[in-house]
Amino acid sequence: MDKKITIAIDGFSSTGKSTLAKQLAKQLGYVYVDTGAMYRAISLFAMQNGYINEDFFNKETLIDSLPTIRLQFKFNPDLGFAEMYLNDTNVEREIRTIEVSRFVSKVAELSEVRVKLVELQKEMGKDKGIVMDGRDIGTVVFPDAELKIFMTASATTRAQRRYDELLQKGDSVSFEEVLKNVEERDYIDTHRANSPLVKAEDAIEIDNSELTREEQFGIVLSLVNEITKTI
Ligand code: C5P
Repeated sequence: MDKKITIAIDGFSSTGKSTLAKQLAKQLGYVYVDTGAMYRAISLFAMQNGYINEDFFNKETLIDSLPTIRLQFKFNPDLGFAEMYLNDTNVEREIRTIEVSRFVSKVAELSEVRVKLVELQKEMGKDKGIVMDGRDIGTVVFPDAELKIFMTASATTRAQRRYDELLQKGDSVSFEEVLKNVEERDYIDTHRANSPLVKAEDAIEIDNSELTREEQFGIVLSLVNEITKTI
């Protein structure tokens, strides 16, 4: 049997990283880890405890509380993927709201938060057979991953996808609000001092503005097959 590898998928927000990662994990029988969900869960914790809002961010208290935050992924067989639990509560739905999206990049800038999450992520991937998506997976979490993908698409294409998703869930948002959020997160994610979003030198870039999900999946699956044959 082919050996298991580590697949790192990075890129801007709403480029369809998680869709691709879920498809790959299902096809290959690998574990899928959505690291954005982990940063989102910490942001939700900060919001619930009043440490962050539109006007202020009590970074020190959030940092002091980090040891009390327990994050777990629990596989939901009905959905076919793992859901995020924050201190034993399923927060899968709450972490996907536009409110959390508004604060998450600020929380993800804190080095203490990144250190905690990167350590958990490395541990989850120690046996390989993993598809992990995020912003720093190919550069920081798994610099030795056998396959690194860097996904891009225009900001309007991405905002449209996220807008459609939110509408489907019944959230009332405007397209302009979603586009502004996508652009703001791009800016913060690429300009932060700690692990900014950059393409790893050995990552393969895929612009999926004009690709269907199936086309994109086919391209990446052939890459996986090529690699697993040679190791
Ligand atoms: O992937 P998703 O859009 O859910 O990620 C939410 C936010 O979490 C990103 O905009 C980014 O600020 C942060 N993030 C990160 N590093 C990761 C994954 C997500 O900084 N590995």
